[in-house]
Amino acid sequence: MQIVRTPGSARAIARTLHRPVGLVPTMGALHAGHVSLVERARSENASVVASIFVNPLQFGPNEDFDKYPRAFERDVEMLADAGVDLLYAPAVERMYRPDFASSIDVGPVASSFEGARRPGHFAGVATVVAKLLHAIEPTSLYLGQKDVQQTAVLRAMLRDLDMPTNVVVAPTLRERDGLALSSRNVYLDIVQRAAAPSLYRALSSVSRAIERGETDAARILATGRALLAPPLVWDYLAIVDPLTFEELDPVRRPAVAIGVARAGSVRLLDNVTIASANGVDPILTPPHDLPRAARIRH
Ligand code: AMP
Repeated sequence: MQIVRTPGSARAIARTLHRPVGLVPTMGALHAGHVSLVERARSENASVVASIFVNPLQFGPNEDFDKYPRAFERDVEMLADAGVDLLYAPAVERMYRPDFASSIDVGPVASSFEGARRPGHFAGVATVVAKLLHAIEPTSLYLGQKDVQQTAVLRAMLRDLDMPTNVVVAPTLRERDGLALSSRNVYLDIVQRAAAPSLYRALSSVSRAIERGETDAARILATGRALLAPPLVWDYLAIVDPLTFEELDPVRRPAVAIGVARAGSVRLLDNVTIASANGVDPILTPPHDLPRAARIRH
């Protein structure tokens, strides 16, 4: 596995890779969820590029940029073992010159829920992912369902800006008790950790109610809200349209149940998708549905 540190060297080496190329962007502190994205990319592409970059643009002033977990040596080992060909791990100064001022505003899908609670977050995500796409020029971009609003924001950016990259969204990997794997789970104390799976139970109950045919959002959400175990408290629980992230009431399918629970200063983020009546998942890209460009040898 080659490691590159600057946009210029990333582009030069990425251009020598056999296509199709899959790109898996991460902020490091890797876990099995990240590895599952790399494995998916490995199975669908001739070459796999991963990036590790803790992106200051997507952290608010009171967020955990400085203390975000970093484990570079271990990450390198995990990515090499998973078959990554090229790791792009730039320093902040190589990504953003002192006078860097550009930003990508994706519009309404980036302004609700996570966008409302973390002003500037999705502009930071869109901007850094656009830079990664320009450096690597991948055939497909691999994203986790875990950050479901992020998948909608990036799909909108690619569509609106005619960026020639497919998006592949892979399912959320979970602990056995249902807690979604996250680099931030290390922040949880024992009591918070024990309560944490109740977020997924609440989201699953919302999903089951919708699958049973219930349509009254307030009633469905009240039942779900009651399932969160203390000391967790709700930031939000909502049922949204998979494309626009507008709340659905009455509820229709397909839909996404999204939730954030707070455990002290830690925000636990999760979601469950509710397929359309004919079984099509609104977010996930089926494994057999290889990206169109990935079937063509460039
Ligand atoms: P992060 O390092 O948190 O920015 O995540 C990098 C990528 O991994 C994003 O596309 C995430 O959605 C994805 N990801 C994070 N957690 C999981 C998980 N538990 N299962 C699958 N993908 C995940």
